[in-house]
Amino acid sequence: MLEEVVLTIDEFEAVRLADLENLYQEEAAEKMKVSRPTFGRIIDSAHKKVAEALVTGKALKIEGGEFEMAAMRKFKCYECNHSWELPYGIGRPENCPSCKSGNIHRAQEDKGCASGVGRVQGSCCRGTQQKQKRKRNMTEAF
Ligand SMILES: [Zn+2]
Repeated sequence: MLEEVVLTIDEFEAVRLADLENLYQEEAAEKMKVSRPTFGRIIDSAHKKVAEALVTGKALKIEGGEFEMAAMRKFKCYECNHSWELPYGIGRPENCPSCKSGNIHRAQEDKGCASGVGRVQGSCCRGTQQKQKRKRNMTEAF
């Protein structure tokens, strides 16, 4: 069994905004509706946990992760064909995390099999679409 470091949703979101989207702490704090000092504390704590997981080889787990993992939105970059997923409830990404292009689109999973490159194998069938829709409704209520 791997030891775990548990990141809260707030910490996860703080890392995403500050480190992935490169927002200033003021902007990120505003997005999370917390004060700037509070955001500072959240991101400090998050960085320590991420560092601990990296350095000691522990598993990084997101609090409430199962729920979050179940409700992912898929985005795709039209420039480099990079595709990635984000949980519901957080903002739409502005740029591709891979090439920083703004030419990104929400992957159209609801309209049947996405054509072209970047399609994730195995995730493309009617069965999973049904499940995804149900999960999505749950998330919107949440
Ligand atoms: Zn890209």
